[in-house]
Amino acid sequence: MRRIEVLPRPPNVNQSMIDLSMNRWGWAVAAVACAFSVATPWASAQQTARQIAITIDDLPANMYGGDNDDWEAMTRDLLAGLVDGAVPAIGFVNETKLYPGDARDERRVALLQAWLDAGLELGNHSYSHPDLHNTPLAEFQIDVLRGEEVTRELLAAAGQVPRFFRHPFLHTGMSLEVRDGLHEFLAEHGYRVAPVTIDNMEYIAARAYDHALVRTDEQLAARIADAYVEYMDEMTGYYEQQADALLGRPIAHTLLLHANRLNARTIGRLLDDLRARGYEFVPLEIALEDPAYESPDEFVGRAGITWLHRWALTAGKRGDFFGTEPNLPRFVHDVYADPPGRR
Ligand SMILES: [Zn+2]
Repeated sequence: MRRIEVLPRPPNVNQSMIDLSMNRWGWAVAAVACAFSVATPWASAQQTARQIAITIDDLPANMYGGDNDDWEAMTRDLLAGLVDGAVPAIGFVNETKLYPGDARDERRVALLQAWLDAGLELGNHSYSHPDLHNTPLAEFQIDVLRGEEVTRELLAAAGQVPRFFRHPFLHTGMSLEVRDGLHEFLAEHGYRVAPVTIDNMEYIAARAYDHALVRTDEQLAARIADAYVEYMDEMTGYYEQQADALLGRPIAHTLLLHANRLNARTIGRLLDDLRARGYEFVPLEIALEDPAYESPDEFVGRAGITWLHRWALTAGKRGDFFGTEPNLPRFVHDVYADPPGRR
């Protein structure tokens, strides 16, 4: 079995601390807090730092073009950035990607193992990424369980179990009955829903970035990356403002990203920008301790939207409340809409 070899370590964190982080993030709390001279652990209420959980979907990879070598390079860079930043991220797996042919692809399984070896967590994102809005609930549930087979095995070897489920497309059901039916099913199998507060059009920038790279237009790729990093900072500001307007205070955010080349190449800058806004990176379970996540949510609809907007709609907010979301520059949308194969 091939594995990604040596991952860089965070500055000031010695190997024994990395070893600790490979067991459980509960241990890593103490180790990282010590290494960075942080006086209190993440869970402490007296902290003034803002908190954010980094969640990354569509593992092992969501990329336009590319083979296993590219998937490995992307994973290595992404994990290096997360480990460098001491970010206790969680990755959500689509196990269908482990079977590109008839047989299980061990190189792809090794990519998931690399996440665990880096001390990170894995969650369930369903097997085949079905859309709950056009899949019967019973069928969807079978896909959820099929989606944990390999992940559960890998987690077990690390003394863990899968704990979080992320809805594909953030589609949570076209009725409260379906939504709650799935929640009940997930709970029976030990899962909590993984909400998102900072949603974004990252997938458009990521695909445009892939298009530029497939055309070997490094200059265009760099322009897209710059625009993306700036856009993501604006999006964070937008959602901070939305949280303030709805709840009257900053909240512990959950950011949605995907396992792609763009994030692998920009993760350091994205983390720097979040740090500059005063954020510390916490595990998803810590972010979810914020009472904001208990806000009433009666949202039913076709759109896969941020939980912040679900809470706002449930609270009766409409129209102007949502303001104008930041957008990517026009040229990024243009490159996105123009795949290399069409020329
Ligand atoms: Zn997804």
